[in-house]
Amino acid sequence: MKYEAVIGLEVHAQMLTETKIFCSCSTKFGSEPNTQTCPVCIGMPGVLPVLNQKALKFAIKTGLAMNCKISPYSRFARKNYFYPDLPKGYQISQYELPICEHGYIEIVVDGEIKKIGITRVHMEEDAGKNIHGEEENHSFVDLNRAGVPLMEIVSEPDIRSSGEAVEYMKKLRTILRYLGVCDGNMEQGSLRCDANVSVMPIGQKEYGTRTEVKNINSFRFVEKALDYEIRRQTKVLEDGGKIIQETRLWDSTRGMTESMRGKEEAHDYRYFPEPDLVPIIAEQKWIGEIKKTLPELPDIKRERFVSEYALPEHNADLLTSEKPLADWFEEAVKLGGQPKIVANWVQGDLMRLLNEESKSIEECPLKQEQLVDMLKLIENGTISGKIAKTVFEEMYKTGKDAKVIIEEKGLVQISDTGEIDKAIAEVIAKHPKEVERFRSGEEKLIGFFVGQVMKLTKGKANPQIVNELLKKKLSF
Ligand SMILES: [Zn+2]
Repeated sequence: MKYEAVIGLEVHAQMLTETKIFCSCSTKFGSEPNTQTCPVCIGMPGVLPVLNQKALKFAIKTGLAMNCKISPYSRFARKNYFYPDLPKGYQISQYELPICEHGYIEIVVDGEIKKIGITRVHMEEDAGKNIHGEEENHSFVDLNRAGVPLMEIVSEPDIRSSGEAVEYMKKLRTILRYLGVCDGNMEQGSLRCDANVSVMPIGQKEYGTRTEVKNINSFRFVEKALDYEIRRQTKVLEDGGKIIQETRLWDSTRGMTESMRGKEEAHDYRYFPEPDLVPIIAEQKWIGEIKKTLPELPDIKRERFVSEYALPEHNADLLTSEKPLADWFEEAVKLGGQPKIVANWVQGDLMRLLNEESKSIEECPLKQEQLVDMLKLIENGTISGKIAKTVFEEMYKTGKDAKVIIEEKGLVQISDTGEIDKAIAEVIAKHPKEVERFRSGEEKLIGFFVGQVMKLTKGKANPQIVNELLKKKLSF
């Protein structure tokens, strides 16, 4: 029997606020343990939480960008459980009345657009962090993270493979970064993913028993953890066994999921409305104002890049994958660069140089003016496209302008026919056999001769002139 997977993802995204969700402690990453805490976030009795308005706006923005309905009335709930990293004994979350519901985002699967439903987007506070194994017989707890604002973005079980799950995560991350509500840094844990996975015989309507895989913190692990879990469940069913509903932990070093605990149900948490916080009433007018602050979103930008700049899909896809990259490109076009040519330089040489140093486009040392000026020098024949590659790399590495580099390195294109004639004569003298073959009809050898002349002139000869002159010399 053939099986197919049914996957739903729960993504926790840390919001980019300066302060925590219910107190004014800093959310800065990487500080000394327990230096960013106060009576509210360490759960002292008698304190009252106050909602961070920016966090609420961020959640609404996210809901709007993911086509959700924004609830006019929502509220917080207490999720009760005991764990040392949760000093209050409960987490403030949202339960039956989340801030956003019933949305979707679009991903591309085999060239087709597929909608993945968003069940809900809700706000909650993060817990602290337990640290084990640094000292024998001791464990530590760091509460800097306690009370950091999170959004939980829950998808419908619309995902059918690990590849789709990765596409979904990437799209989600792109949207969050466009909105500026989350930095999307998976290594630092600002974007984490739990996956609900089940398998069923292909064609069956009823879903199989699912497991929840926790602790997936990179795109690569999304793929690996899901593939592993799908294989594991399929094998259990093929062997006539049953899937147990449980929570499993992804172990990235061993490349497998492991049973962690039996699956808890909602009633295990004894949710009840948080009495210390007032319900949230989001008026239409206010939601409308927030909507006006949304940036152009990646899908719309991509379509515009295709129609406005006549870019092929793959160029538009890559350029709009990050807003700063799209901005960099558009600025260069505004300064007079030909869109397609700018796109090729950005996507090719610029991305390569940035990747070599693990730099983002925001850290790009090259200015758009410098690229555009260099493109003009190619256009007016001062340098060849080939030489431009060297010039571009020098510009990137030294910060010098193209003109300066060309002058310093003597890279000006040779258009002087006398000098090119000399090189051609030398090449012809050196390769009598090839000349013979060309003259007896093997015209494709022209490429060989051009290559030899370019080599001799260290790539500086104007290829168009070389071509013309060569044809003249080689024919009778
Ligand atoms: Zn605090």
